[in-house]
Amino acid sequence: MKYISTRGKAPASSFEQVLLTGLAPDGGLYVPETLPRFSKEEIASWAGLPYDELAFHVIKPFVNGEIPDEVLKQLITNSYRDFSHSAVAPMRNINSNEWVLELYCGPTLAFKDFALQLLGRLLDYVLIRDDKKVAVLGATSGDTGSAALEGCRHCANIDLFILHPYQRVSEVQRRQMTSVPGENVHNIAIRGNFDDCQKIVKTAFGDQSFLPEDRQLVAVNSINWARIMAQIVYYFYAALQVGAPHRPVSFSVPTGNFGDIYAGYLARGMGLPVDQLVIATNHNDILHRLISQNDYSLGELKASLSPSMDIMVSSNFERYLFDLFDRDGEAVEKFVTALGETQQQLPEALLQKAQSLFSSYAVDDETTCKVIAEIYQDTGFLLDPHTAIGVEAARRCHRNPAVPMISLATAHPVKFADAVKKAGLENPALPLHMQDLFEREERYDVLDNDISAVTGYMRQQLC
Ligand SMILES: *Cc1c(COP(=O)(O)O)cnc(C)c1O
Repeated sequence: MKYISTRGKAPASSFEQVLLTGLAPDGGLYVPETLPRFSKEEIASWAGLPYDELAFHVIKPFVNGEIPDEVLKQLITNSYRDFSHSAVAPMRNINSNEWVLELYCGPTLAFKDFALQLLGRLLDYVLIRDDKKVAVLGATSGDTGSAALEGCRHCANIDLFILHPYQRVSEVQRRQMTSVPGENVHNIAIRGNFDDCQKIVKTAFGDQSFLPEDRQLVAVNSINWARIMAQIVYYFYAALQVGAPHRPVSFSVPTGNFGDIYAGYLARGMGLPVDQLVIATNHNDILHRLISQNDYSLGELKASLSPSMDIMVSSNFERYLFDLFDRDGEAVEKFVTALGETQQQLPEALLQKAQSLFSSYAVDDETTCKVIAEIYQDTGFLLDPHTAIGVEAARRCHRNPAVPMISLATAHPVKFADAVKKAGLENPALPLHMQDLFEREERYDVLDNDISAVTGYMRQQLC
């Protein structure tokens, strides 16, 4: 299997090439040239498998034999071994046909551990095998940074540079990043906002001449294909538990960069009978406006109680657009680069095609808190604000009550104390492995919002 760019102008690449980079050279994102497709019988035969064994079946075709099966199996098993629940991704029933898939049992308490635990191990394996060193560079508004650091900190051939906006992430989130030990861990607080951090990262990827000669940059945000690949697995895992592939299943996904829900879209393309995919957003609702009103225009980014979804332009949406535009890279490029200049609209036929699978709903902060309180009262289950948005959107959009609706729980509520407090509830205790979080030593450097300050700093650390 080869990987191609959504802009259609980059050469096809191997799994390893895609793993060790960020965007394609033409500015697009990598996608598989063809999706593997599993028969109903094959999917049915996976019922009851432990998470890691199922993951091996789903992931293997994407790796294309570039890593031996036995090695791949071990890397996958090791990635999920330390999750705090033996099911890895436990399912909870909250109402007759409503389910919540708990994706926060990993070391940093958000679903991003599913991808980054595996990404770190894949990188470690190929870098040691090929005797290469890289620098991981990423920007975070909170959850990605800690998950990336946890996933990659044991890799001797990786130096990690994680940018976060100075004084604009929650204390738990900051401490989760800045207390990670290791010579190869570099936390940088930028005097600016998350967009500023992202811009610096993008510029650095575009011109890597500041790096020592034997180094290249690797992305850890969800433009990295391996992250998406790892997330496909839990759609199969959850669906099998409620009767798929013999019956259809729907999912509701708290959405920011569109990586998580795009993995669900791919699971459907691989043979999983998915009826509906619900895009759940907060008041930063560009995707909801597109699906519901064919309005794809920038709004003003506003902070919410669900900060991991405070995103205006969802990078992975381009991967879906590539299919929607019948894999016409030029059309994709035209559509995404015109954003901001004009109000973009999809041709009516394409909008209808998107609507046949995707529904959407936007939830404001007030309703988010109400849902957290209500679900807690009804079920004793405490949701984080992102998950609450997913559950509310699921209820609003569920077309066929006979089809199970699974909401993805993307983070543990302890990470978002503000919202829990505003819902009138008590914040849960930190899990055991994090109980000394507020006593741990922190390490980070504060830099100006300036590309040369960051590249100079990186060069110094790498030489
Ligand atoms: C990253 C994140 C999201 C958004 O996921 P995308 O793949 O960017 O759409 C939602 N909830 C939480 C808690 C997150 O950390």
